[in-house]
Amino acid sequence: MSGHSLWLGKAFPTASKAGDFIVNDFKRDGSHLSSAPPVEKWDDWIELDAQAWPRKVQRHFQLVPTICFNCESSCGMLAYINKETGEIEKFEGNPTHPASRGRLCAKGPATINQIHDPDRILYPLKRVGPRGGGKWERVTWAEVLATLGARMRKALLEKRNEEIMYHVGRPGHDFIMDRVLQAWGVDGHNSHTNVCSSSARLGYMLWHYADRPSPDHANARFILLLSAHLESGHYFNPHAQRIIEGKMAGAKLAVMDPRLSNTASMADYWLPTYPGTETAVLLAMAKVILDENLFDAGFVKTWTNWEQLELEGVD
Ligand code: SF4
Repeated sequence: MSGHSLWLGKAFPTASKAGDFIVNDFKRDGSHLSSAPPVEKWDDWIELDAQAWPRKVQRHFQLVPTICFNCESSCGMLAYINKETGEIEKFEGNPTHPASRGRLCAKGPATINQIHDPDRILYPLKRVGPRGGGKWERVTWAEVLATLGARMRKALLEKRNEEIMYHVGRPGHDFIMDRVLQAWGVDGHNSHTNVCSSSARLGYMLWHYADRPSPDHANARFILLLSAHLESGHYFNPHAQRIIEGKMAGAKLAVMDPRLSNTASMADYWLPTYPGTETAVLLAMAKVILDENLFDAGFVKTWTNWEQLELEGVD
């Protein structure tokens, strides 16, 4: 079938032709609309060249799943690879990713800037000349591994373990590298996390032995957030969408934050604490909950390390 349909005074094509998924499958009920290409079309996704309008010039892409690593949420993205040039042209959300579910914050699509950044380092470089001189020469990975491996081995054999420090920008390989360093007897793991979320993570680790929990926000009845988690905290994209789902299902949201942040503006309760007093407020809340027996004893017994606390004499 082909032809045109009149809708709100405008003519829309109704022809169904293989490949013209976006423009030619128009339906009055909107069922042709989709926020992302369907998986079965990822091998050969066709878009019309906007620059060529009004001519309909097709461009063919292969969509390859990848992740955004501009924060630790690691949202799922699709790299749009131009099948003619083999180059990535853009990134969009991967609707099949279980955490982000196709949604990205502005930093996700901006990953394309990193791909084409003229200062992007594509191969190992070795400094030549004095430190700070800004002169580098290209070396091979084999040379890097041989040089650094030999120096580290020498340091370990000479028991200079403290001279080795491992630094990573954003750790995404938890436990594996930690175990390697422990096996080497090296206490020198450093990352941006040391100045970012280490205090929160330590608390989580001591409490339930997972340093980055993902609570079941969507099914919660009451959600308490400390600071601006919804729009800027860790895992805010996967979490924020589920917090809002929970809220839409009737959950109450409380936010403890000195600022009336965007997160606080979405809350049912805003507790504008004085900076640094949050711990005291939380302890006071815990005392009331315990004194007035407002907690689920069965849950606490099953899911927390209460026995350990009891052994340590914590009432
Ligand atoms: S929340 Fe934004 S920056 Fe973080 S991984 Fe997702 S898209 Fe990237």
